[in-house]
Amino acid sequence: MGMYRCQAPQCADRLGRLLFDFESEVPVCPQCGTNGRIPRFANIIIKLETLHFEPMSHIEGIGIGEVACTPGKPRPDLWRATGMASVANCKACKATQVWQDAAEKSGLVTVHAETDFVMEEPKQREP
Ligand SMILES: [Zn+2]
Ligand SMILES: [Zn+2]
Repeated sequence: MGMYRCQAPQCADRLGRLLFDFESEVPVCPQCGTNGRIPRFANIIIKLETLHFEPMSHIEGIGIGEVACTPGKPRPDLWRATGMASVANCKACKATQVWQDAAEKSGLVTVHAETDFVMEEPKQREP
């Protein structure tokens, strides 16, 4: 399983940003079907590095040596991790209470599914 980003124009968000992220076994966008294994589309589907969340120890700046999604196990050397809740992108880490607490503590607004709602951008005035 890997994390990928589709940068095809048809997958842009409402603000025109080319950052539709998805998890998949293969670099193929589930939304527009772009196949990143075809060389001319290779720059459209970008492999994202999974960044796990490693909680801080009692000393600021030094992590506890394990990541939120595999508690009780030392973090494998090849795994990349961050102590910043807002930067971590591992879905399993972000599903943990440890991440949730850190996110709330750092002032990051966390969206709970049951209270999730769509915010409208303010309308742009015509020039
Ligand atoms: Zn796409
Ligand atoms: Zn993780």
